[in-house]
Amino acid sequence: MLDENALAFDREHLWHPYTSMTRPLPVYPVARAQGVRLFLADGRDLIDGMSSWWCAIHGYNHPALNAALEAQIGEMSHVMFGGLTHEAAIALGRRLLRMAPAPLQHLFLCDSGSVSVEVALKMALQYWQALDRPEKHRLLTIRGGYHGDTFHAMSVCDPVTGMHGLFAAALPRQLFAPRPCCRFGADWDAHDLDAMASLLMAHSEELAALILEPIVQGAGGMWFYHPEYLRELRALCDRYGVLLIFDEIATGFGRTGRLFAAGHAGVAPDIMCVGKALTGGTMTLAATLTTAAVARALSRVDRGKPGVFMHGPTFMANPLACRVACASLDELERCGWQEKVARIEAQLRRELEPARNMPGVADVRVLGAIGVIETEKPVDMARLQRFFVDNGVWIRPFGRLIYVMPPYIIEPADLSKLTAAQREAAAITARH
Ligand SMILES: *Cc1c(COP(=O)(O)O)cnc(C)c1O
Repeated sequence: MLDENALAFDREHLWHPYTSMTRPLPVYPVARAQGVRLFLADGRDLIDGMSSWWCAIHGYNHPALNAALEAQIGEMSHVMFGGLTHEAAIALGRRLLRMAPAPLQHLFLCDSGSVSVEVALKMALQYWQALDRPEKHRLLTIRGGYHGDTFHAMSVCDPVTGMHGLFAAALPRQLFAPRPCCRFGADWDAHDLDAMASLLMAHSEELAALILEPIVQGAGGMWFYHPEYLRELRALCDRYGVLLIFDEIATGFGRTGRLFAAGHAGVAPDIMCVGKALTGGTMTLAATLTTAAVARALSRVDRGKPGVFMHGPTFMANPLACRVACASLDELERCGWQEKVARIEAQLRRELEPARNMPGVADVRVLGAIGVIETEKPVDMARLQRFFVDNGVWIRPFGRLIYVMPPYIIEPADLSKLTAAQREAAAITARH
């Protein structure tokens, strides 16, 4: 049991994500987690609406995932990947390439989502270097995106919410098109593409790649856009000779109702990042997948080219993480995720849609196992965090977004508690 001293140490010495060291919001000690429940050290338990930020798709303390970890620990937790290889990496590579769109044939296993984005951007830049087009080194993206907190990833995050002001002097300047307006499920309006098409035409000579989150923009605003936008982008990128990168770190592995969100549009990128749910929420691991054409170019040795891809983290292809990722992907195939996600989607629609008419609610959006209430006013995070915990749920809103993306195993009665808390939180936000 954690005493007051332990919590005081946490408050005074440990950073939590995006927090102040001198004025932190309270944090809740978790003793253990099981299924969709987080058990707090004080004896209370919370229904988890966040999947620990998109990761814990099968719920916590899953026996098959635990067994994979224990088996791998008995063999080896880690060995360097330089000059060595192992069964866990090979098995994971086979599974990922079997699941991914067919043109993706090669993969780079790395530590976290942000690093996989850095790797994707480096691949794109090195690709054009290899083709003797070093002037093609800029990046294009859409507003409202989120791609991670490292520097180059930050440079393609939304310029307003993405810390650009703070780090302007040190960040490379990229190109931004407006966020697509056409919603998922609404009518397509071809004008939605105009600004993007003009940018591509005007800058194709200096552009290495276009990077975006397919269909669902996550941490940048929980916005779901029309699949036709992606189909048109694929054609434009081919026309103007710009690589297309899909960041599926949040959306991958079934969350949006397709295995990968780009499946809604039926298009494949040149480079794809996955992470978050890859290990079922147990360990940090991500991957960058690419085509044979990109991989071949990175391997060209003529005229002073390195002939190798210039990246190699210490914990590359960590066996423990690869082994549990295999177990998580096996569980995904076994668990009937399509029906589970479809059932969650139907219930989220049923139970969140009525909030649309509440005072102070700007919008309600549901796609796959993601349910969002957008409020007119920014939420009071401190007040709502206390409200949610007092009501037995774990939901962490930001900005004007009260959203859930629960583990796929959630039962209808537990999901109803989450959606009721979301609606009540919207009412609280409207009142204050
Ligand atoms: C979370 C996220 C990242 C960054 O991943 P980390 O593992 O936090 O570095 C990148 N892109 C998207 C779309 C994400 O949701």
